[in-house]
Amino acid sequence: MAVTPNLQDYTSVTAGFSWEKEQSSLTGLPNNQGLNIAHEAIDRHATSELKDQVAFRFIHKDRSVMDCTYKDYLELTNRFANVLGELNVNKGDRIFSFLGRIPELYFAALGTLKKVAVFCPLFNVFGPEPVFQRLSRGDAKVLVTTKDLFEKKVRQLLERLPELKYVLLTDIDQDEDEQIRSLPRLMEQASDEFIIPPTDPEDPALLHFTSGTTGMPKGALHVHKAVLVHYVTGKYVLDFHPGDIYWCTADPGWVTGTSYGIIAPLVNGVTNVVDEEEFDATRWYSILEEQKVNVWYTAPTGIRRLMRMNINPREKYNLENLRLMLSVGEPLHAEAVVWGEKNFGMPFLDNWWQTETGGIMIANYRAMQVKPGSMGKPLPGVEAAIAEVIDDSFRIIEEPDKDGHLVLKRGWPSMFRTYLHDEERYNKSFHGDWYITGDLAKRDTEGYYWFVGRADDIIKTSGHMVGPFEVESALMEHPAIAEAAVIGKPDQLIGELVKAFIVLKPEQHADENLKMDITAHARRKLGPAVAPKEIAFIDNLPKTRSGKILRRLLKARELGLPEGDLSTLEQP
Ligand code: AMP
Repeated sequence: MAVTPNLQDYTSVTAGFSWEKEQSSLTGLPNNQGLNIAHEAIDRHATSELKDQVAFRFIHKDRSVMDCTYKDYLELTNRFANVLGELNVNKGDRIFSFLGRIPELYFAALGTLKKVAVFCPLFNVFGPEPVFQRLSRGDAKVLVTTKDLFEKKVRQLLERLPELKYVLLTDIDQDEDEQIRSLPRLMEQASDEFIIPPTDPEDPALLHFTSGTTGMPKGALHVHKAVLVHYVTGKYVLDFHPGDIYWCTADPGWVTGTSYGIIAPLVNGVTNVVDEEEFDATRWYSILEEQKVNVWYTAPTGIRRLMRMNINPREKYNLENLRLMLSVGEPLHAEAVVWGEKNFGMPFLDNWWQTETGGIMIANYRAMQVKPGSMGKPLPGVEAAIAEVIDDSFRIIEEPDKDGHLVLKRGWPSMFRTYLHDEERYNKSFHGDWYITGDLAKRDTEGYYWFVGRADDIIKTSGHMVGPFEVESALMEHPAIAEAAVIGKPDQLIGELVKAFIVLKPEQHADENLKMDITAHARRKLGPAVAPKEIAFIDNLPKTRSGKILRRLLKARELGLPEGDLSTLEQP
């Protein structure tokens, strides 16, 4: 049966849009006690006719399936909020998870929000160093993880993390000591009743780390009011309808896996499929079929992998329930959109946003004509523009088809409220009312936005943001390395791969053994997702006269591109 899109006419919805009006679709806490994400996502549904509907459908690695209804989740999240109470967690304290996509991650996230504490999920592929950086910069008080991850990557960090009061292990029966506790035991002892305390819409809720070009990862802090964007984008972009089965392939360690792998589907009252396993083409297709997925949100890396396989999905699988496919995270090239049309009978709808924006900002909508290769048009309620930014000067470029910085007008509800402990950097990312995204783009005559590139050296590899500085710092800890510089090198499959240029200390010899040793060191420290995939030895790194590494020049040389303005290059 044809399902009418929620957004049928982009122009009229945009013209009549107001955030206040949209807010009336949320209930807010009882007795005007404020706005809490977990209440909108779980509690209000668990006491409505949706209570017995499946909220989460977990597909375990072995393909067994576990369903949790909204009512089940009410109880689980209440218990977790009570566990935090038991551990003296207060409003604003930071609770981290370091887990795969298992049920504990999801009830910990929502239970933390109920307690008005701040939740920060970490990728379980990180090595000890990225974990340490984030736990310490985020002042983690509680960490939820598994015994295996704890032993391999966290126990060694405990001495350096004096603020970390508790580690809750999901798979031990008894507490190890005061600090290392059994989560199942705590959950069992906790009450399944909990009243969400008053929550100001501006109370911090979620912390997501993203990578910077200089310095260590930046913690973007989001508030409870962000739920309004999750609701609106769920309605207009993901086009949720009652009874929908939805699957987002992203991990909550990436903001997409939280905003759209937890919050948006629940706020909109649909069933959220979570697959614990990583990419596998036949597994993905069969999940779409078996789970009768209606709306599927994925990323270009996965789509490119599917495109390489010799599988015609519609011939092999029954995908009649699939109504909408969306993509985010990296440029989605026109061929992928067209491939979707040919092989699934519908295009992948690209959309754009980033950790700092907390929710989708630019999108293609089901009822709007798709221009393959374009990111689409701004979300109703969001004002985007292209600007010329040179040092302190800032000018909005009114003319179409001109490259410039993609900027957003301050004020959408899910805008990040600070970079934790780095107010200066936060302030620097704004010019007056405009947030400067760090991306370059252009807008065509019909108002569609087209991605041009990053304005900085940040690398996007398999959908992950990787800051060169973080990788370089870890490399420098290797005893043979004098200096290191890291760039993103275009790669057909994973978008960009991390490539390191290394200057060795004088007495060292560049050979394959050393390369392997450095690779092993990097993987141990950083984890395979972040560690360089290619290493080259080099005599000197190109630098500016002020001593900054010119990564851009390394990249141009690597790719055989023009070297650009070299007036600031220090001559070795
Ligand atoms: P993250 O904060 O990890 O979600 O990464 C955000 C960055 O990913 C953006 O600033 C862009 O550089 C890139 N990105 C996200 N979505 C898209 C898209 N649809 N097209 C091109 N680049 C994208």
